[in-house]
Amino acid sequence: MGDFLLEKKWLRNTIQKLKLPIPVPPILKRDPHPYRADILNEKKVVVSEFGFKNQVFLQALDELGAKAYLSIDKIDRADVLVFNAIGMENSDDIDQVYYFFQPLLKKVNRNGRLLILADGKAEGVLRKSYNRAMLGIAKTLAKEAGKKGISVNVIFLNDARQASDEVLLQAIQPHFAFWLSAHSVYVSGQSVNIDLKKSEKDIKIEGSIQGKKALVTGASRGIGAAIAEKLALEGAQVYILDIPAQEVEAKRLVRKIKGKLILADVSDPELANQLHEKFGEKGLDILIHNAGITKDKTMANMPEDWWKMVLKINLKSILNLNQQLMELRTLSVDARITHLSSISGLSGNYGQSNYVACKAALIEYCKAMAKEKKHLGYVFNAIAPGFIETDMTATMPFFTREGGRRLSAFQQGGLPEDVAEMALYLSFPSALSINGQCIRVCGGNFMGA
Ligand code: NAP
Repeated sequence: MGDFLLEKKWLRNTIQKLKLPIPVPPILKRDPHPYRADILNEKKVVVSEFGFKNQVFLQALDELGAKAYLSIDKIDRADVLVFNAIGMENSDDIDQVYYFFQPLLKKVNRNGRLLILADGKAEGVLRKSYNRAMLGIAKTLAKEAGKKGISVNVIFLNDARQASDEVLLQAIQPHFAFWLSAHSVYVSGQSVNIDLKKSEKDIKIEGSIQGKKALVTGASRGIGAAIAEKLALEGAQVYILDIPAQEVEAKRLVRKIKGKLILADVSDPELANQLHEKFGEKGLDILIHNAGITKDKTMANMPEDWWKMVLKINLKSILNLNQQLMELRTLSVDARITHLSSISGLSGNYGQSNYVACKAALIEYCKAMAKEKKHLGYVFNAIAPGFIETDMTATMPFFTREGGRRLSAFQQGGLPEDVAEMALYLSFPSALSINGQCIRVCGGNFMGA
């Protein structure tokens, strides 16, 4: 069931004309095309004068096609503001974030982007505290600017102070390409840690997963189908896995994206062997654990088989499959293994103890595995979607669904492709520098924020 406040133009107009006290959600502009070298084409970007190695960041923006300035004086309005907090040293430096954003916020265009660059390994009490302040500011501005479709996020750069200009320039570009473009539309109030020591050289996003073998579970519809489509659009060879009951829908998608079909249940203990036969040694580059189910009831009313079924499909099968694929060496070196968690896994949710247990466990699992399997090169990350418009959320009661939508800073639910964009970003070679993290795709949702 679609969002009537987005779909019914007459209703939006009436609310606005009559000045009714009902928030009208902004129309979010998405980019349905593959990444291209000049992804920030002609975007007007203002970078703070305050900061650290700003010339490098200006050059990175320029190479992505943006028109980047150190001062707003040369332009009337901006599409993107970048505050560089890495240089913060003294107690007064925190005021710089106010001096930068305060006069400029009203000059940012609808669907704009605000980004704060911060020090991921800040040392000393002052620097550490001020870096945490940047995240607080981003979460707050996300809520304030969301009504104009503007997103606000933080990139924490680890070891930025030690990195050479060349490393910084190469490393930051793929991340600017995502966080400052229309590929990150529904991600707001979030942060990511980039490990510059893990950044590969000469990484361009476009074409970088061409020919890579990717497997998406539960991919016949909803978020999984969107992920499969995005990966295919960037040139990956996508295998769509779903249960036999979904065969018709799965085949339709296979034809559309020229993918391959695997009809199987993720909880089948034989699945790993089947996959190994298909992909061979080190043959699987990207694995997206998307399949999931809900069986909601309060703990007091939860039947044992509902508890066990959700735990089996949403958690145990994932951990088993990963373990077996690692033992069989089916995963390639630097394989990207991405897990669909949920913001419920961060905040808890009424009537979802079984589901939340799984989604919370996946977040910690990724963190722990990133450390434990570091020597093997595998990359484990989680995505925590907020309210996303899919069959799963369409079955919710009206008021629960409405609440889910309007709790977002954009006052609307996200689309499956918004989550797919994050899964894609985490699958690029450049995401080697992101490991053990959980990033929310929730439109700055108030839940668990
Ligand atoms: P969905 O529309 O229900 O799609 C899930 C797919 O997984 C379905 O095709 C489903 O098939 C399949 N599946 C279920 N059990 C399976 C199994 N044992 N083996 C293989 N495939 C299986 O769900 P969605 O809304 O796209 O959600 C995708 C993921 O994102 C889930 O992990 C979900 O928990 C997570 N998530 C979603 C939201 C949201 O707002 N939609 C929010 C947070 C997190 P059947 O339907 O036939 O069982």
